[in-house]
Amino acid sequence: MTNQYLDPIAATEQPRENFIRHLMTAYPLRDPHLRYGLKKQLEQPGTVWQHPYLEGSQPYRAASSVSNLVSQGILHPEMESLFQPSQRSLYEHQEKAVETVIKDKQNIVVATGTGSGKTECFLIPMLDMLLKEEENLSLSGVRALILYPMNALVNDQVKRLRKLLCRQETVKIRFGFYTTRTETTPKNAEESLRRELQAYEGKELQELFTATEKKNSDLSTKDKLVEAAIAKITAIQAISREEIWEKPPHILVTNYSMLEHMLIRPKERQEVFAASQNTFKMLVVDEAHTYSGSTGSEVSMLLERLKVAVGVEKEQLRCIATSASLGDKSVDPQVLKFASDLFGEPFKQVIRGDRVTATERLGQSYSLPSELSNEEIFDYLSIIELPSQDDSLDIWQDTLSSIVPLERLADAKSKARGNIHKFLWYVLKQHPLIHRLINILNRQPQSWEQVVKSSELWGIELPVHLDGTIEEKYIEEAKPALAHLLQLGTLARENKDDLPLLPVRLHLLFRSLEGVYACVNPKCSGAESDPDYRDQTIKYGRLYLNEKKTCDDCNSPVLELGSCSQCGQAYIFTQIIKNKLKSLPRSNAALKDNPNIYTLTSGVLDSETEEEENGESEIESAAPKTLILQQRDGWIGLAVDKNFDSTTQVDGEFNLAWHRSKDAENLKGCYLPKCAACGIRPIRALAINRFVTYV
Ligand SMILES: [Zn+2]
Ligand SMILES: [Zn+2]
Repeated sequence: MTNQYLDPIAATEQPRENFIRHLMTAYPLRDPHLRYGLKKQLEQPGTVWQHPYLEGSQPYRAASSVSNLVSQGILHPEMESLFQPSQRSLYEHQEKAVETVIKDKQNIVVATGTGSGKTECFLIPMLDMLLKEEENLSLSGVRALILYPMNALVNDQVKRLRKLLCRQETVKIRFGFYTTRTETTPKNAEESLRRELQAYEGKELQELFTATEKKNSDLSTKDKLVEAAIAKITAIQAISREEIWEKPPHILVTNYSMLEHMLIRPKERQEVFAASQNTFKMLVVDEAHTYSGSTGSEVSMLLERLKVAVGVEKEQLRCIATSASLGDKSVDPQVLKFASDLFGEPFKQVIRGDRVTATERLGQSYSLPSELSNEEIFDYLSIIELPSQDDSLDIWQDTLSSIVPLERLADAKSKARGNIHKFLWYVLKQHPLIHRLINILNRQPQSWEQVVKSSELWGIELPVHLDGTIEEKYIEEAKPALAHLLQLGTLARENKDDLPLLPVRLHLLFRSLEGVYACVNPKCSGAESDPDYRDQTIKYGRLYLNEKKTCDDCNSPVLELGSCSQCGQAYIFTQIIKNKLKSLPRSNAALKDNPNIYTLTSGVLDSETEEEENGESEIESAAPKTLILQQRDGWIGLAVDKNFDSTTQVDGEFNLAWHRSKDAENLKGCYLPKCAACGIRPIRALAINRFVTYV
């Protein structure tokens, strides 16, 4: 029968293929060997994609409630009406975040998993801090700024803040969000809010009202509900830019590019930030991990400018960053360093979520009888064919008899009353293999490959080669075994709305492409050739997806690759300063009118054949000159005023075709504004693109 279950292997293959196809279309290459080589590179794990990550989502360990924290005098009494039901337990990490920020007055990084209530980790301390201002709150001015990387996340936050702040008995705390979507005038903003609310479900709108309000007002039709919601929202939210300028709200939510914009414009700098100079005290950066790498320093400069604009000195600000939860405690020092650099403020605490162990949640696991060995369970799981969910429990019982003791199956069957999910719950909830998987995933999200190869999971040592790698044959067995185990564990649940026995999330990680680099030696041993185009000349050597100076295979120079978005002509670039080869500046703006940049090809253009080389090409552009790469003390580049001719190359040197614009003077270089092959000259974009994406 066909497999109707979640297949973690297939689920990750499709997005990966789509991503690679997208890159190959966005950066076309006419040279078949380059195209073939690049695709092969992109298909390697760890380049632009990583093996999927498995995150176990067992419940987090619970701690005190908001009510408890109020009675301990940690939280302001009014917090009870905002966070309802206030007796519900917070997670342990939420309580720790609250205590660290409020009691210890420290900055924190919240690095907990998906669904861990990260937002509460900063909203509780933030709202508490505001309420504790008491009468001071009537003073206008921003107290806290929440920064998101993109609009989609801002919108979620706006909904959540509205719901929370609408619960205030008398309105004390107001917020505003400032993005490209924020209308300027209150009138337009109200119209836009009306359209937004009309698209909501009635239930969602009802949540904005307290029980008393629902009893005392007429919310019987959608229109009445929308109008009442507008009245409630405009009391707690500054919905237009003009209102934000006039009376900056206590909490301001925005995204990275809007903040940059606001700090440049005198209007916002004055009316929003300078007006908050005596009030500003908290900065929250959500999804801070998105600013790793080169964007990190840009964000850090932006935050520095914000601090200047609101007039806060170092260490006067309470800072909270939230981040993805990859890695475990061992990377905390790096996480803290990253946050300290980003905010320019000291960070000492990473808050991580602690999940309940398998035993705590499910009871002690049983030991397997001697006739069910770990080896046999592993072998059987890799070939098992799961019955359909509609099949009888007898069929299921029969199928599972090779991995579960018989008396457990019989017992589960009597408790399950024909329900397959219940049956699997009782069958597996104390199975040692399930417990091992839960405890492994509880530690941290882990790559699928890592879990597949885990001898701790299978309870057996997978046979290894002499070099220590596991024999491929066993990995190929372990993959379906893990997939089947996950399928069983996600189907197993005690009651319909309960968490399954194995709540897991599969994360796909893609990385941006930060340039493609090509060895200039066509005879390089690392050169790829597309078997379908054997007759076409190979022009470049090995390709690299990270910056390189010389080739690992042949020690020839490696230059950055680019291509024409119109015709796919490949180019290589270098920057030459005092004859030395330098890498290109990171920013495209620094390429324009830069006389040190040389636009090159190895051999003739991809659209020309060798015979055409000396003939007139249809595109009128200057005939390419020659750039010679020579090895001295490292590789150097010499621009020569001599028409390019590939036949004059001296051994140990590389002659490259150097393309110049028609009006080029003397021997200066340039980033070619027009493709030499097809002549396209876009007005706003570059004619030739580097292989750089920002995912
Ligand atoms: Zn090479
Ligand atoms: Zn072109």
